[in-house]
Amino acid sequence: MAYITLKNINKIYPNGFHAVHNFNLEIEKGEFVVFVGPSGCGKSTTLRMIAGLEDISNGEFLLDGKRANELGPREREIAMVFQSYALYPQMTVYDNIAFGLTLQGVDEDVIEERVKNTARILGLTDYLDRLPRALSGGQRQRVAIGRAIIRKVGIFLMDEPLSNLDAKQRVTMRYEIAQIHRETGATTIYVTHDQTEAMTLADRIVVMKDGYVQQIGTPYELYFKPANVFVAGFIGEPPMNFVRGQVKNGCITFGDTALDLSKKLENVQKYEGKQVVFGFRPEAIRLGAHPEAYQLNCKVELTEMLGDNTNVYITAGDQQAILKVDSHDTPEVDSLLTFSIPYESAYLFDGNTENVID
Ligand code: ATP
Repeated sequence: MAYITLKNINKIYPNGFHAVHNFNLEIEKGEFVVFVGPSGCGKSTTLRMIAGLEDISNGEFLLDGKRANELGPREREIAMVFQSYALYPQMTVYDNIAFGLTLQGVDEDVIEERVKNTARILGLTDYLDRLPRALSGGQRQRVAIGRAIIRKVGIFLMDEPLSNLDAKQRVTMRYEIAQIHRETGATTIYVTHDQTEAMTLADRIVVMKDGYVQQIGTPYELYFKPANVFVAGFIGEPPMNFVRGQVKNGCITFGDTALDLSKKLENVQKYEGKQVVFGFRPEAIRLGAHPEAYQLNCKVELTEMLGDNTNVYITAGDQQAILKVDSHDTPEVDSLLTFSIPYESAYLFDGNTENVID
């Protein structure tokens, strides 16, 4: 039996806006699940329904197999970390972390032991006497996490906890959150719009768009087996390249090249005359002409050196795409080049439904 079950969950706000449609998910104890998607897709609304901060309009929410729709936030044994740290500015780090336990009237000795243990996990031992204003953003976020994990609840909800941090701090805190999860083993649901955070932290990712779940899977599944154009374009940086076209004589054309879809599709005649979307990842190409691959000619428009690799912006016919190459192989701007997309690295999607064609 799953630890958390969401069955056909819907959210319709009082103004009639349908923010979440038929959300179904089972989460196992100890799992780290990330909800990801663009702004407004319903991630926070879903998280807030799980927290009990928002009513569930339709559907059933089960905790450990028991209906929990009607339970208030406190009765759900859930701790939540928000984007704003919401620390008490006049209290020390120690008191901020201890706050929940102090309210519950827990014995001072027990509180001290748990605060010290929490501070150790979070690397805050040397900061316990400081006020929040004397901490960096990352340290404040750790205090906020400490306040949540000290309660030893089974479920930990995080809503964009890293969004107030700079790029470097985000990477450090991401690593720390993964470590905390390993140490505490708490079931975690984490909301972000950042696909890198989702990919690096999650056991499983739920990709959402416009209130609908697009796909649920491991980072590996989402990257290699995207269910549709949206997921394929959302996961991966730079995003997957897409070429839309009509199938003619089993091919779609890209630049001066006709892509023979029979290399990907056994029943290509079924798609004759139909719109399809051909996709390939910037990093899945090889420079030069290689066998067992689509070979394309293109013109280099711009290069972006990122360190170990370089993004190469190209045009082929009327299409634009990005290739990711080893920086040592960076081509000249305005040069013409040939590159290959191995057949197994090419994706095809139905042009109307945008679902992957297997
Ligand atoms: P973000 O990353 O921007 O926080 P999100 O995916 O978390 O986005 P939600 O905050 O869940 O999105 O909002 C989903 C949709 O519901 C949005 O279109 C939002 O405008 C709408 N919404 C949120 N709260 C309310 C409300 N109280 N009344 C009506 N509509 C709302």
